[in-house]
Amino acid sequence: MTARLWARRLFASVGAWQIWSLPRWLAGYIVAVVAADVVGLVAAASVMTVRVHDLELLMGLLACGAATVELTRRLGHSAGVTKDVYAVWELPVAILLPVVYAPVVPVVRLALTQWRVRKVPLHRRAFTAAAIGISYITAGLAFRSMIRVAAGATVNPARHALAWMVITAACAVVHYTVNHALVLTAVKGADPTVRLRDVFAREPLYNDVAELCVAVIVTFCVASSIIALVFAFPFVTLLQRSLRHAQLLNDARADSKTGLLNSATWEREATAELARAIRTRTPLAVALLDLDRFKLLNDTYGHLTGDQVLKEVARCLTTLLREYDLAGRFGGEEFAILLPQTRAPDAFRIAERIRSTVAALRFIAPGASGGERVSVTVSIGVAALDGGDQRQYADLMAAADAALYRAKAGGRDQVLMLSTTRGLSAISGPAPARAANAASQETQDGLRRALSS
Ligand code: GH3
Ligand code: MG
Ligand code: MG
Repeated sequence: MTARLWARRLFASVGAWQIWSLPRWLAGYIVAVVAADVVGLVAAASVMTVRVHDLELLMGLLACGAATVELTRRLGHSAGVTKDVYAVWELPVAILLPVVYAPVVPVVRLALTQWRVRKVPLHRRAFTAAAIGISYITAGLAFRSMIRVAAGATVNPARHALAWMVITAACAVVHYTVNHALVLTAVKGADPTVRLRDVFAREPLYNDVAELCVAVIVTFCVASSIIALVFAFPFVTLLQRSLRHAQLLNDARADSKTGLLNSATWEREATAELARAIRTRTPLAVALLDLDRFKLLNDTYGHLTGDQVLKEVARCLTTLLREYDLAGRFGGEEFAILLPQTRAPDAFRIAERIRSTVAALRFIAPGASGGERVSVTVSIGVAALDGGDQRQYADLMAAADAALYRAKAGGRDQVLMLSTTRGLSAISGPAPARAANAASQETQDGLRRALSS
């Protein structure tokens, strides 16, 4: 093959990389981060000294990292962000070995992950490896400058060990912060609807703290002897298993498309919440929400747009509801909401706010003319249990369902409520659930008028 032909093929294959289909600034950002990592690597390599002990420790830590990748494969790797324990093997590299090794370790780990666990576009792997590499270079340099000051300040061994640990922990935080800042810039830029609240939720944060603490202990022990790895490995494996277990439990509760509770979990938790409300004689409300003419939206704009709408409506619910409210995906385009400690008028107001917020959302449906703005409306049926009421789960749901049915029949894009004992008894008797009688309809209309005025 001639050199020209070879070069042309190389250009063609580089031109086909997925990264070039990203927005220009994002592609530029990714290239800049990878380039900065390479510059750091080259600069560190130019001043490095190769020592046998360093290479032994590097091999030991890389072997533990590789074994962790294999374990991840065995435990199953869910889509999206998964919690891992790699910092336990990578922080010691950044702290104890020449800086040049810090950016190499994540490259090895992510290459193994790509090969053994899951294939993702190469630019994403390269970016992740570079962001981790830069964060470890920064942590390693921070450690060197801080330890120099601390070492001069004390000759007491116990104080020295304490200072060493505290500085290592501070450098672990530096690594965490730099890595998250680099990655979140790309994630938030690519999808502005990503909420930092989800990224820094309490549970993942606990996991990160546990991981960093173990990383500091392992770094401290490995600094004395590489044999510490033999004792650390089973413990870290256990930690990884427990993190995965917690994640699986969480996955089993959630609806995979929207991230809300799935219907079985919602029903279980709502039943328990209702029993508590009856026992403590406190008010509670449920709302059933159904997207209007969703089949038509799917048929017109496609299922992908439909899915985007479902996700956005779910996000809207999470934003508008309080932390202790329960929002679940009940069926295809039906959602259920449970509002503890909420009286009928407040439940109606909350539902009305959800209805109006969803109606104001705009989605871009991909089309020949470069995208069309699509909107969607919802109908909501609300049923409330006033303090002291003894209704059971089925009664309350039937009431909300009847209200929803009426909202649909009444022209959609509206909230209807059955909240009085009269309204509930009207549908909890022998008549079919959907057949709320005229008396209950009057009650709803009266409430609706009263509340919307
Ligand atoms: P109505 O206003 O009476 O509720 O009309 P509708 O079209 O919303 O109701 P219907 O029950 O006839 O249609 C529901 C549609 O929801 C049909 C189905 O294709 C769609 N659907 C269910 N699950 C999903 C999903 O996960 N993704 C997408 N895109 N569509 C879904
Ligand atoms: Mg519908
Ligand atoms: Mg439906």
